[in-house]
Amino acid sequence: MLTVNAIAATSATDPLVRTTIERRDVGPRDVLIEIRYAGICHSDIHTVRGEWGEVAYPLTVGHEIVGQVTEVGSEVTKFSAGDRVGVGCMVNSCRECDNCRAGQEQYCTNGNVGTYASVDRDGTITQGGYSTHVVVDQDFVLRVPESIPYQAAAPLLCAGITTYSPLAHWNAGPGKKVAVVGMGGLGHMAVKIAVAMGAEVTVLSQTLSKKDDGLRFGAEHYYATSDPATFEALANTFDLIVNTVSAPVDLAAYLRLLRLDGTLVSVGAPPEPLPVPVFALFGARRSFAGSSIGGIAETQQMLDFCAERGIAPEVEMISADQVNEAYERVLKSDVRYRFVIDVDTLR
Ligand SMILES: [Zn+2]
Ligand SMILES: [Zn+2]
Repeated sequence: MLTVNAIAATSATDPLVRTTIERRDVGPRDVLIEIRYAGICHSDIHTVRGEWGEVAYPLTVGHEIVGQVTEVGSEVTKFSAGDRVGVGCMVNSCRECDNCRAGQEQYCTNGNVGTYASVDRDGTITQGGYSTHVVVDQDFVLRVPESIPYQAAAPLLCAGITTYSPLAHWNAGPGKKVAVVGMGGLGHMAVKIAVAMGAEVTVLSQTLSKKDDGLRFGAEHYYATSDPATFEALANTFDLIVNTVSAPVDLAAYLRLLRLDGTLVSVGAPPEPLPVPVFALFGARRSFAGSSIGGIAETQQMLDFCAERGIAPEVEMISADQVNEAYERVLKSDVRYRFVIDVDTLR
């Protein structure tokens, strides 16, 4: 076992603290990664605060991880020491169910193993990326192209793939009108990726406070959802709406913005169920859908796509001691657009 520095939550209410955690020995198919940067995802906060169910404390979260390989197991063929790699939201799956076989490990019917707060195959609870090292099976490690700035790469592993996957699945591209609801960590990546795919992109944000950024990221239009006129002006407009907001939204209002056969896909979700207004679906054969991260192969595709198109998240770097403060700012949407922990400050 390897004892490594980490930041952990010790309860749902106390601030995160510096500590050490154990990493398993490097097995034949494992890769030991020296973590350099770890992104802060809103899911981390929900999880440590017990808002998504009970968790076992102490818990180290973080599922936007980049670093370099420092050691590989005897059967590892995909990576070698020095490679720049990433780990996202999952570190294993059953590999046998239909979805795993189809490369959709995120939808493993036996449940994928999350990067943190999941029961690993050996019965231990997985611990995430706010830590100096992690040991991961090579099949769940991604290659991070050199052309993506090291500091900015981490948020691609969750925010990037969470938005890329539905945009790719519903064919965002030339001739398609795509709306992105919310301009936070997920939303700003959705805008950049949809623009790079060739779609005509509209941002629907509560206010116009981030309009300059939205247009700089390539959106053609930017509307405030606090203005009821927005919903009149844009009725029957979009082929695809990607909702990145995790607060409850007026589904009927958003569904009516879809044109014939359009889809509203949610990648953010409030804890409570949302009633689906079925008549709004009837009106133009519309669909309401959900999407969760992406498979490993698709995550690699996304990283290569971002490298090729020169797309990277907008990040604010923080030290290990600023994580609690960063959490408060995330909750106030006071971040443009993703906090990334410089893990060297944990060594
Ligand atoms: Zn996440
Ligand atoms: Zn499976």
